[in-house]
Amino acid sequence: KAVAHRICSGQVILDLSSAVKELVENSLDAGASNIEIILKEYGEEFFKVIDNGSGISPDNFQALARKHHTSKIMEFSDLHSLTTFGFRGEALSSLCALGNVTVETRSKNEALGTHLTFDHSGSVIEEKKTARQVGTSVIVEKLFCSLPVRNKEFSRNIRREYGKLTSLLNAYALMARGVRFLCTNITGKNSRSVVLKTQGNSSIKENVITVLGFNTFQCLEPLSLHLCESCTVEGFLSKPGYGSGRNMGDRQFFYINGRPVDMPKVSKLLNEVYRGSNSKQYPIAIMNFIMPTMSCDVNVSPDKRKVFISDEGSLLLLLRTEIEKMYAPHGC
Ligand code: ADP
Ligand code: MG
Repeated sequence: KAVAHRICSGQVILDLSSAVKELVENSLDAGASNIEIILKEYGEEFFKVIDNGSGISPDNFQALARKHHTSKIMEFSDLHSLTTFGFRGEALSSLCALGNVTVETRSKNEALGTHLTFDHSGSVIEEKKTARQVGTSVIVEKLFCSLPVRNKEFSRNIRREYGKLTSLLNAYALMARGVRFLCTNITGKNSRSVVLKTQGNSSIKENVITVLGFNTFQCLEPLSLHLCESCTVEGFLSKPGYGSGRNMGDRQFFYINGRPVDMPKVSKLLNEVYRGSNSKQYPIAIMNFIMPTMSCDVNVSPDKRKVFISDEGSLLLLLRTEIEKMYAPHGC
């Protein structure tokens, strides 16, 4: 049973970025306005996410890392109106199965915080009081230590995993309003490098400047498309002729209702239309698709990056027409 649990957990937590993503989403769900991410050796030794959110109340401690324990969904019918990132109660239980997890938390009704240590089955094995501010820290040491093959793979690819993580953190930092992000990586004895630092801006425009830089911002124009009655797209897109020389992916950010998702078909469409006018570059894109929660399903893959959109084909056609208008040579 323990082995099965480890294997299933390895499908929820695929790699470093999906692990950190779950923790950051928990912090956002808890209403944090400050989220700090600390990596040790690019996340290979440990990663830690510290927030100033609501904290966790003591009656949740024992079940916290039990599979399917969640405080976010009361009944299945809620699924369609869901606005939190999490709802399946799988992240903490999976992280416990795959690494060594400790949680430090204090909710506003408690005078002191609590430090909790979990074993691989998700049971609390140590609980002690500690002083801390309201909020939560989750530390995961030695991710994948319980899956030897994955662990080897993880160590070998750590730089790539780290790269993927930074672009994922950028995706969250671009869309979040009023949330400060700080991510640092500690290597060797004590050398720290800042991976990401934002000021809790109140607009996406300011986030773009902070996260991608002013030079990149100048290459973009604001996007506001009404594709149809039920779908609009807000964000930024490269001006004609201003793209990114690098390959797609790290400069294209897609969201549905503010949730970062993978949209390979949209990416392909953008690249095709854009490259029709300029063969060497890829467009930079920040695109948030706003649509009724009824018309999309994020429950396709355990990491919630894949989505089903109802009537995706016609949406893509409408989008293509709009993007073609933007990139059509002037004067036509
Ligand atoms: P889910 O997010 O799907 O509910 P998780 O396994 O990610 O499941 O988390 C389990 C529960 O632990 C959450 O429902 C929440 O109650 C609590 N929790 C986890 N992280 C935090 C946090 N940073 N702040 C407050 N509560 C948290
Ligand atoms: Mg969660």
